[in-house]
Amino acid sequence: MIEQQLRDTGDFLALTLANPDGLSPCHFTLDNGTAVEVWDTGVIAFQPVNYGTKDIILSCGVHGNETAPIEICAEIVKDILTGKLLLAERLLVLIGNPAAINLGKREVTENLNRLFSGHHSKGAGVINAERKRAKDLEHYVSRFYQQSEGERQRYLYDLHTAIRGSRFEKFAVYPFLHGKPWRKQQLQFLAACEVTTVLLMQTAASTFSYYASNTHGADAFTIELGKVQPFGQNDMTRFAKTAQTLRALLTATLAELPPFSAAHFHLYEVYRAINKQTQDFKLHFADDVENFTSYPMGTLLATDGDLEYRVEREGEALIFPNAKVAIGQRAMLMVIPKDVSKQLI
Ligand SMILES: [Zn+2]
Repeated sequence: MIEQQLRDTGDFLALTLANPDGLSPCHFTLDNGTAVEVWDTGVIAFQPVNYGTKDIILSCGVHGNETAPIEICAEIVKDILTGKLLLAERLLVLIGNPAAINLGKREVTENLNRLFSGHHSKGAGVINAERKRAKDLEHYVSRFYQQSEGERQRYLYDLHTAIRGSRFEKFAVYPFLHGKPWRKQQLQFLAACEVTTVLLMQTAASTFSYYASNTHGADAFTIELGKVQPFGQNDMTRFAKTAQTLRALLTATLAELPPFSAAHFHLYEVYRAINKQTQDFKLHFADDVENFTSYPMGTLLATDGDLEYRVEREGEALIFPNAKVAIGQRAMLMVIPKDVSKQLI
């Protein structure tokens, strides 16, 4: 029944949202020979007959209200299932948090993107649906990467949209590589997706992209494509170049990327994380300030009881401010421009 529905409509998103808690596995083969395997709700793997050397994972909906990436991935899956898009690489598409998508909310009980690399089992353990999903998604990622043999290139692009606006509409988070060099070719690919602002992390994280990077050696990124909008209200033309570049990657029709030039990018590193220490924590700028906004040296950014946080560095910019986090959690990240010329391959 699932097979017939998918063959007829290609609408894996509808099938997923109608079955947010689970879907019986099934597999079938398209007329063009591509093998299709449904592993779970929101989890679908494809293997074309003559596939290339890339194992590609696209994920969306890790935060349930971030709809544009879900629409991008759902369209790709539909076009594969209906034979319009001829895959040239192995592909796993993950719709992260179907229950939260149905609610139109970022999460049901816990931020799924803080639960990877085993964080799902820490503290109280696997006590809610998001923790179980994080654990399951890790399992599916492992299974997908381990199913292919020989020299393979692994990728994971985890697509998001940000809660607030951004001075640079699209940006990516490059997970901490533990001293390994950042890859020019990946930055060039991001630029082809119209993502030219990249935050280079210097610490381990509990995100999905860090998990794929650190555990599986994948080139993995969290990609923020713009501001959150409800389903159907996204201006999809703003994402057209990104979707087109992802499709070119999947079909091995990517045009040669222009040579790398640092001048094309805004590259940042984390300068400091400001953690909320008391109930009195307060941000001293407007609620709707954009990510990557910077202020003159000495500007008061936040107070926390007797503590004052002021701009300390030229070009220091803020991202992800949120005064409402729990005490002890990160309330804001401060970043500074980074010269990476010697740390790229
Ligand atoms: Zn998100």
